[in-house]
Amino acid sequence: MIPAVRFQQVSRYFGQVRAVDRVDLEIAPGEFFAMLGPSGSGKTTCLRLIAGFEQPTGGHIEIFGETAEGIPPYRRNVNTVFQDYALFPHLNILDNVAYGLMVKGIGKAERTKAAEQALDLVKLPGYGGRKPGQLSGGQRQRVALARALVNKPKVLLLDEPLGALDLKLREQMQEELKSLQRALGITFVFVTHDQGEALSMADRVAVFNNGGIVQEGTPQDIYRCPKTRFVADFVGSSNVIAPDLMTTLGGEKRWASLRPEAIHVAGEGVEARVEHASFLGAATRLSVDIRGTRLHVMLPAGAHIPDIGTSVRLAWQPVDVHYMDDAA
Ligand code: ATP
Repeated sequence: MIPAVRFQQVSRYFGQVRAVDRVDLEIAPGEFFAMLGPSGSGKTTCLRLIAGFEQPTGGHIEIFGETAEGIPPYRRNVNTVFQDYALFPHLNILDNVAYGLMVKGIGKAERTKAAEQALDLVKLPGYGGRKPGQLSGGQRQRVALARALVNKPKVLLLDEPLGALDLKLREQMQEELKSLQRALGITFVFVTHDQGEALSMADRVAVFNNGGIVQEGTPQDIYRCPKTRFVADFVGSSNVIAPDLMTTLGGEKRWASLRPEAIHVAGEGVEARVEHASFLGAATRLSVDIRGTRLHVMLPAGAHIPDIGTSVRLAWQPVDVHYMDDAA
């Protein structure tokens, strides 16, 4: 199988700044791939390298088996949806969507038809005559998507596409983006610092830190089996437990992660003092103290909530303790 995108030891330095450092990456055709990491970890630079807005200072990039070096962005079969949508305020929606086709020299009738189809696809039929200023944030986001899709790219790059939307709309758009991607079969590569977004939408996630990929896998892999403390901290809200405490808890003398939802209050187990309880609606999060270490426990809705300051006994399954390769 020829990967949609392949990076071999790709680096991008800006002077002394190491934005991307020897990244190896393969994204399969039709995959929904997330690049997840904190600000400054190199995700956007990777996306821009795929798009052709940046050139690598080292290594090699292929798009569908073809060397990308020297190929300008408009000849790459790749389109980008930017976080700020980058719509032209003076053009109406139809012309915004059809813009790329106009630049390619496609006739008016054909590009209008294609733009209307793209607007149907993003659930904005009949909005072609409006100006961007007359749309809500969520609608502008769909227009930006339609404008990229109208070019029928093989790879769609999305840079924090939902970052500007409020939570409810973001969740709705997550589902819509995912079903659109499934229906079209286009390879989607999206950048986010929101772990919930990456886990909920992506087929595969690459976690970035300091210009490199620290772990890559399915959302389930990344969530359940973080390789490092950084991944455990960044993805989800795992308890990271130091080796000394692990031995007193009956485990191995190694760094470990234990998800809050894997811990339950039981008749017997490790004694802990309840410090805080936060009601979250679907669950309640307890902060507890075990021998000077603060841990989180997620109780399901309906569970008895112990009083602050009282002692409880906590238990978990040994299989839920995940030991990590290194403490980085
Ligand atoms: P964010 O989520 O904030 O966009 P990111 O993970 O996408 O972060 P990048 O934008 O790829 O990170 O930046 C990685 C590093 O490279 C940062 O230290 C950034 O300051 C630096 N960098 C990116 N672009 C340039 C540039 N054009 N000139 C100099 N340094 C740059």
